[in-house]
Amino acid sequence: MTAQENRLIPAPAEWSPETGSFNLTPTTFLLARDMQAFQDAVTFRDICIDWFDFPLKTAIKEIGSGPYIEVAYDSTLDLPDGGYILVIAPEGIKVTGKADGGVFHGLMSLLQLMEPKPDRTISIPCQTISDGPRFVWRGMHLDVCRHFFSVDEVKQYIDLLALYKFNSFHWHLTDDQGWRIEIKQYPKLTEVGGWRNGTMVGRYSDQQYDSIRYGGYYTQEEIREVVDYAAKRHINIVPEIEMPGHATAALAAYPEFSCTGGPFEVAQGWGVFPDIFCPTEETFTFLENILDEVMALFPSSVIHIGGDEAPKDRWKECAHCQALMQREGLASEEELQSYFVQRIEKYVNSKGRTIIGWDEILEGGLAPNAMVMSWRGTEGGIAAAKDKHQVVMSPNNDCYFDHYQGDPANEPLAIGGMTTLEDVYNYEPVPPGLSKEESAFIIGAQANVWTEYILNFEHVEYMAVPRMIALSEVLWSTNRKSNFDDFKLRLARNLQLLDRQHVNYSRTWQTQ
Ligand SMILES: [Zn+2]
Repeated sequence: MTAQENRLIPAPAEWSPETGSFNLTPTTFLLARDMQAFQDAVTFRDICIDWFDFPLKTAIKEIGSGPYIEVAYDSTLDLPDGGYILVIAPEGIKVTGKADGGVFHGLMSLLQLMEPKPDRTISIPCQTISDGPRFVWRGMHLDVCRHFFSVDEVKQYIDLLALYKFNSFHWHLTDDQGWRIEIKQYPKLTEVGGWRNGTMVGRYSDQQYDSIRYGGYYTQEEIREVVDYAAKRHINIVPEIEMPGHATAALAAYPEFSCTGGPFEVAQGWGVFPDIFCPTEETFTFLENILDEVMALFPSSVIHIGGDEAPKDRWKECAHCQALMQREGLASEEELQSYFVQRIEKYVNSKGRTIIGWDEILEGGLAPNAMVMSWRGTEGGIAAAKDKHQVVMSPNNDCYFDHYQGDPANEPLAIGGMTTLEDVYNYEPVPPGLSKEESAFIIGAQANVWTEYILNFEHVEYMAVPRMIALSEVLWSTNRKSNFDDFKLRLARNLQLLDRQHVNYSRTWQTQ
């Protein structure tokens, strides 16, 4: 087994090395057997230009003579959806994929095996791989509210997701510290809500702020561009529009949708803020209009509506909220939040989409069709799975990549916590104690990158990589050996790929 052959991450289900290698030259054709595969071939050609400055010729046609890479979809393959068979022989390469993403996943494995040589050809060792994913939701999240990242940076993030066969990007677009998505009907959301007059600097306990105006947002045109970029890499973008809490930026723009009427300023510090949306008819219309524009931009069947960390102080003191509770027979403010989420769910369902929310949406009663993202440990996910709701696991102990990954004395300032590479590698998304039937509701997991203490994209890379590479194996590989030493060996080789791309990954794990 050569070093090159043993650097694939996530580890494939079945793999057999063979002797010899295929040599990619500028005359090699990338041939697609169908339109679906042709789209993947074109994306792969673009990636090869980016990675190796190597121009592959692409076409839709049958095999002629000469060296070739052939790609084709085949719905009859005996593999999970998204699975593929990759055959690398001296005379040619064949990638056959099943359902959405299969061919692309095979091409991403191929990309990891490609070794450029000084004569500008690319050598690929012969082997046969038969592979498919364990979970259908393989997610990474990025918070662009606490700190903002450009379209190009978001695309670089998506590139990393694609390379490791993630298929879901959770884009956290609204929060107290900034509203980051243009909504045509409510321009003040970005004009006012997209900017703050200062930012907390350093440790939370120091309570220090600068007075630099900070902000930014994505136009709808930019959002469409990113959605399309991700779709070509078989990554679905799940947009998150926070409600009823984490709403300060929205309320700074439109204070009439709060309980007190404001005025408010876009938050400069971190934490949880008391002013949340007041559940008036006008607020529901406002949020439904926003969701209409969001759903027009994002084809995702799942829309994230937040639901976390919504203090009930204002609702307790608000005449409208209290009257509404009485009218609807709601016994507590938690039940009022449940009423709120259920109204939004009904609206989103009427548009043919499903809502997902953080596990606080369980409090006061879960909306009938909602999916749950379990972040405060696994209890919320377990309760939702037992109640036959689909669950994405994202427990903070194992899946919060804003946590420290090593001794805080040697690491840049982080929010706290400790989630080492080994913790992520050993993470098992299906919690013990669920029956086989209940376990089927755990559809995958996701890691979250909250950016209070992450000021630029290089730091995002440092926090996400290589922990996301370990998570990719947790989510994809069906034959995990749970051998951390072996993983570290493969990781060291795999990271050479990212050296080429100048990714600023963490090396903390090398001393652990
Ligand atoms: Zn109110």
